[in-house]
Amino acid sequence: MRVFKFGGASVRDAESVKNVHNIISKYTDKPLVVVVSAMGKTTNKFENLVNTHFLKQPTTEILEDLRTCHGDIVKELFGDAAKPVLEDIDNTLVEVEWALDDPEGLDRHFQYDQIVSIGEMLSTKIISAYLKHQGLSNEWVDARDLIRTDNNYQDAKIEWDTTKEMTNARISQALKKANVVVTQGFIGGTSENFTTTLGREGSDFTAAILAHCLGAESVTIWKDVPGVLNADPKFYEDTVLIPEMSYFDAMELAYFGTSVIHPKTIKPLQNSNIPLYVRSFVDHDSPGTVVSNRNDLKIVPSFIVKPDQVLVSITPKDYSFVTETHFTNIYTVLSAIRMKANCAQNSAVNFSFSTNNDPEKLKELEQRLSDEYHLTFIEGAELVTVRYYDEDTISRITKGKNLLLDHRTPTSAQLVVK
Ligand code: ASP
Ligand code: MG
Repeated sequence: MRVFKFGGASVRDAESVKNVHNIISKYTDKPLVVVVSAMGKTTNKFENLVNTHFLKQPTTEILEDLRTCHGDIVKELFGDAAKPVLEDIDNTLVEVEWALDDPEGLDRHFQYDQIVSIGEMLSTKIISAYLKHQGLSNEWVDARDLIRTDNNYQDAKIEWDTTKEMTNARISQALKKANVVVTQGFIGGTSENFTTTLGREGSDFTAAILAHCLGAESVTIWKDVPGVLNADPKFYEDTVLIPEMSYFDAMELAYFGTSVIHPKTIKPLQNSNIPLYVRSFVDHDSPGTVVSNRNDLKIVPSFIVKPDQVLVSITPKDYSFVTETHFTNIYTVLSAIRMKANCAQNSAVNFSFSTNNDPEKLKELEQRLSDEYHLTFIEGAELVTVRYYDEDTISRITKGKNLLLDHRTPTSAQLVVK
């Protein structure tokens, strides 16, 4: 059995959905589980809908935009046969209206999940119907019948044992009817049948969870890039494709911020030794990258850039040395305000870290710490992480720039430059 994952960009319009059909139709020789994200920027639109709702502003326009975008794609895909699919979309969107009508005072994270998850419902219904329309028999499966989570809305944790049971039972039932199963990424359900989400970009993780539970032979993530590159072409000119990499390197790259693979994806695959292919949905015959347990691979230096960073420096007002107590104080505040230290370093009297520029959070940090500490902020910085660095690459990055922080381990260098 194979597991495929198609992200938002791969299903953003009618043309892309046709392309997805082309890809899938080449792989019907074995059972196939297809995990799909919401179409294009749908999740952002739903997030906007939730925010607007909580600001008590009218949401009709946003909802109508979502209806139109999906409706237009359906009309283009199905032509004269569009009516039942359009009805299905309307019925699905009614659930959003219900959620918006719910009594005030419902938890925001809870509401977010009930509403934003509809994006994946819409995309999978359209894709499953389109595959059928093209004669490709498939079963649409509700991911909430597969993935059981706790009720930590917006960042739900997987209950692995139940998920494994549910997934095997439901998928084998579906595979009796068709060789292809279509289901939603990013979402799960609680024991009380409420919808949860697994965190933004969580569909890769869904694919990994299902593959792990089902003992699949491989997972393929179809992307708009040729595979895992050694750098983001947005920031570097001479990027190269990494044809093979280890789970460990993939995890490290994801941890440092490579956007190609969701950080949680690798572990479940590594645990059951399932290879992960990252391939291009544009050039679908090229092999892309394979991530596996091999560790004899050629090492390629990789660069990960986080732009728009703020370097925060924290110094105890009493000029004492920075000790464990200070770290505890500072990290407790960071955790409470959900601020991430992307790279941190300390000296005797100072603790510095680089973080994403979020003015609200920075203000809150200052409020909470300024009684005991002096804080300074340097904006407009950039954090460059280099895996398998050498002096040459380091000097290329720092050339003509101000080096604000330099943190190295034997395999990675993290440089904050401005
Ligand atoms: N649709 C969700 C998001 O945009 C999940 C995903 O795409 O993986 O975050
Ligand atoms: Mg996405």
